[in-house]
Amino acid sequence: MRVIDAHAHIGYFGGFFDVGITPDELVGQMDEFGIEKTVICAPDNYAVQRAATEYPDRLIPAVWVNPMTGGQAVEVVERYVREDFCAIKLHPLLHSFPADDEAVDPVVEAARRLDVSVHIHSGHPPFSLPWSIGRLAARHPDVDFLMIHMGHGHGVYIQAALDVARDNPNVYLETSGMPMHTKIRAAYEEVGEDRVLFGTDVPFHHPSVEMQKVVVSGLTETQRRRVFADNAAALLRL
Ligand SMILES: [Zn+2]
Repeated sequence: MRVIDAHAHIGYFGGFFDVGITPDELVGQMDEFGIEKTVICAPDNYAVQRAATEYPDRLIPAVWVNPMTGGQAVEVVERYVREDFCAIKLHPLLHSFPADDEAVDPVVEAARRLDVSVHIHSGHPPFSLPWSIGRLAARHPDVDFLMIHMGHGHGVYIQAALDVARDNPNVYLETSGMPMHTKIRAAYEEVGEDRVLFGTDVPFHHPSVEMQKVVVSGLTETQRRRVFADNAAALLRL
């Protein structure tokens, strides 16, 4: 079965994370687990660009910016999307801004102009909760948002991710780091068959574990095909 990973990283993440992976190691892991393409992002956009240039058929770059840097964030987005980056990545927790802060609007406007989706980390209070992402998405109904981790590890936030996506047709859900396999099927059935995307969040999580959640989610093979690849291919036009 074709597999596209909608969310992973390259590079080393220090502090209490202490995890890392090189582009070569990532592609080796993709080969091992039958992953055709992976969307990668990192705080170092240039490193992401170099990796994607080295593996153009395998690694799909997304540009990571901090909206609190104002016009600079928009400039960075414009520069990298012109050079074929496929999406914008925002991390409200890491950069300490509420997902629906008005400082995010110029970046989302750039996404609309450049016709790319906005991928937002979710699941941690106070900055990256599904409700905040829902308010941002409601303000920008003509931009597609991918809610990374679909609420992450907390049952209340996971359900909120489903609720927010059900209420906002421009919100898509990504499965990495979210422990409840049952919610993958629930999202597929309640949110929409084209709005659930498989991701690994390598190197924070492992492809073997992340893939198994989809396998045991209760979805049929045809349905799993959408989650594993078709939905990402459609959203990211791969
Ligand atoms: Zn991540």
